[in-house]
Amino acid sequence: MSSRAVKTEAVVLRSMRYGEADRILQLYTPGRGRVSAIAKGVRRTRSRFGGRLEPFFRLRIELHEGRSELLTVTGAQTVDGHARLRGDGRALDAAARACDAVGRLFETTEPHPGVYNLLCRKLSLLDEQAGIGATADRAAALAFRLKLLLAAGLAPQLGACASCGEREHLVGFSGAAGGVVCAACEAGSFALDQRAHLFMAEALGRPLTDAPEAVDSALGQVERAIAMTLEHHAHVRLMPAAGSSR
Ligand SMILES: [Zn+2]
Repeated sequence: MSSRAVKTEAVVLRSMRYGEADRILQLYTPGRGRVSAIAKGVRRTRSRFGGRLEPFFRLRIELHEGRSELLTVTGAQTVDGHARLRGDGRALDAAARACDAVGRLFETTEPHPGVYNLLCRKLSLLDEQAGIGATADRAAALAFRLKLLLAAGLAPQLGACASCGEREHLVGFSGAAGGVVCAACEAGSFALDQRAHLFMAEALGRPLTDAPEAVDSALGQVERAIAMTLEHHAHVRLMPAAGSSR
């Protein structure tokens, strides 16, 4: 296999120190999914990459692809550095959780350009809201996760019982069945509040900028529904959607 140059946009999901001066990056790209790359000499003060190979940077990046799965960064330009986000602890924490969720749920090189766009919108939104103390961190984080589920083909069934198709008396949520369940099918499910049900339907139907809100108890159920769906159907576990200081 010959080596070649790859040019793509990418968001830096993670950046880990490696050796004396290098970094290993986990990148999310529109056309190649999640890729790992090494940036050499990036921690030297006069590195040509400057400080832009840090988490949450949106870049136009050049990579060298050889025989290894690890690509080599040969160039990078900033598309958006999300500078405001970097000065706000809560926004940084939310960005880290969003990037972690994308990295875990979409860990292969299978392309999901919709997920890339969603992540870019999420980071821009956090950047816009940084410093103004947005109050709905957990609701916004859960709305984002629901959209990731949709992109992964795992959106919970919400319109009818996921086991029998009944449209009335939808009282529970079953991760195994993949959605809401009726009173007759509730074995193995947990009780789901109307408000949690409505939140999920609205979050899936609205843009991220217009994400719904809900009381904390309902959000707790939504988070549990997402976690159970992911455990059953993707064998993935995510960090809590929001930090305890929300
Ligand atoms: Zn049923």
